[in-house]
Amino acid sequence: MRTGAEYINSLNDGRTVLIDGQVAGNVAEHPAFSKVVETVAELFDIAADPANGMQYQSPEIDGPANLVFGIPRSPEDLKRRRAAVERWAKHTHGWVGRSPDHVGTFFAAFAAHPEVFASEERDYAGNLTRYYERILRENLYVSYAIIPPQYSRATTASGWEGDFIQVGVVGETEEGLIVRGSQMLATGGAISDEVFVTCIKPLGPDDVDFAVSFALPAATEGLKFLCRRPYATAATSEFDYPLTSRYDEPDALVIFDDVLVPWDRVFINRNVETLRRQFFDTGAHALGNWQAQTRLTVKLQFIAAVARKIAAVNGTDRIPGVQERLGELAAVVSSVESALLAAEYSAEPDANGMMVPGRRALYGIMGLQSETYPRVIQILRDLAGGGVLQLPSGVADMKSDVTAADVEKYVASPNVSSEERIKLFRLAWDIIGTEFAGRHQQYELFYAGAPFVVKGVYTYRNFGYEKHVAELDEFLAGYTVDGRVPSGEALVSAGEEA
Ligand SMILES: Cc1cc2nc3c(=O)[nH]c(=O)nc-3n(C[C@H](O)[C@H](O)[C@H](O)COP(=O)(O)OP(=O)(O)OC[C@H]3O[C@@H](n4cnc5c(N)ncnc54)[C@H](O)[C@@H]3O)c2cc1C
Repeated sequence: MRTGAEYINSLNDGRTVLIDGQVAGNVAEHPAFSKVVETVAELFDIAADPANGMQYQSPEIDGPANLVFGIPRSPEDLKRRRAAVERWAKHTHGWVGRSPDHVGTFFAAFAAHPEVFASEERDYAGNLTRYYERILRENLYVSYAIIPPQYSRATTASGWEGDFIQVGVVGETEEGLIVRGSQMLATGGAISDEVFVTCIKPLGPDDVDFAVSFALPAATEGLKFLCRRPYATAATSEFDYPLTSRYDEPDALVIFDDVLVPWDRVFINRNVETLRRQFFDTGAHALGNWQAQTRLTVKLQFIAAVARKIAAVNGTDRIPGVQERLGELAAVVSSVESALLAAEYSAEPDANGMMVPGRRALYGIMGLQSETYPRVIQILRDLAGGGVLQLPSGVADMKSDVTAADVEKYVASPNVSSEERIKLFRLAWDIIGTEFAGRHQQYELFYAGAPFVVKGVYTYRNFGYEKHVAELDEFLAGYTVDGRVPSGEALVSAGEEA
């Protein structure tokens, strides 16, 4: 199975990654990306070591593959899959949102439902299946850009004044589609092997040119990653920025300068209806977000541990009010954990035999994420107080003859060394206060869609209100202004209502 070193070597492929007004060159050696590349390489090494239990025999390729890419076909498969995703998430403590298992999970579900992509035009379903087999065989790191750029949300792309601001088809040749425009926001795109491009937002009949789905190697001619400001380059040391320095996944707007998409890489070609079905009729949205909740759970457990330790170091953990806050934090974390397990427990096979995590539990907890993550951060902020700023300017102060003695004496606690205290509070600042921290707060709020979409579409539609409303109607039918209705009659009238 592919190793970390193989992944690193493959990155020097001439891809166009734009940052600070320059083309980055080899991203594995560029200071904005090299550290997170190392982290991803470590993930590949973990998967490649059979001792870590992340491999299985894939029936699709009749060979060994990474469990995080597998199609779950039984409750045991789902459990094994979660354990593998957790194994990777624990390595990054949940701070790498778009590790290769994220988009790979979507492809597992797509591949379990090739009929959704079937077309009389060309063998798009076959393209999809073969692409998935490549992910399995080559342990591919695929990122995705599936949201129209923020240009105007007043209309969809067909109503925009600019031509092909959102990526769309401008032509067709014997070799494939020619696409032009841009799409947001490929986290990890600049350091991934391939980018999957489509549109998850609903499109109308006039948007047909934008209703595409395809994947391309990162080094494709005309394909560019316009990266946001990097944070890793400002991380003066691992000690001062323990998260920024390792886990700063790049986010990029992906730009297409009349890019050729070979036919064998096209999954949907100008078809609004298939575009709508790809995420929801395949179970991909549920399975992919279940992977994301597994990662989030690990991250919340990590943040809870930091909060608990800060209370201990500051000697506040015996105060009832602080215990209450730690209790609230525990309640939030365990409710996310529990929903994850509930989704697994309530998973059911769909018509194609793929186990789909229970949508009610999954989308229920996702609907609260825009409140739970800020709440967790708020509790950590509250417990840390000014301790995250009553810190020396950096490791240099801890080593210099001019400052070390004062730092050691005054930036300390009775129960831990000065170094331990500073280490802990620096970590807390990287969770709540640095640019990396701010980006993570935005990430947890938006990665699965804006909160109005998560709540108003996914959570609302998957709760199953009908059943509860029917039960309520039965209750309401049980009494009138004349008193209690005999039970048989109440049931009949509730049935008539329904
Ligand atoms: C850090 C980060 C990483 C990301 N990584 C990826 C990635 O890897 N791949 C990818 O494809 N995408 C990624 N995304 C993009 C993400 O999917 C989008 O941010 C998300 O879908 C929301 O779209 P938007 O940001 O354009 O928000 P918009 O849809 O523009 O919404 C922004 C706000 O406008 C208001 N609003 C807009 N429309 C309405 C409406 N109809 N009703 C009510 N309120 C409305 C709401 O307040 C809403 O929160 C990432 C985003 C972030 C922040």
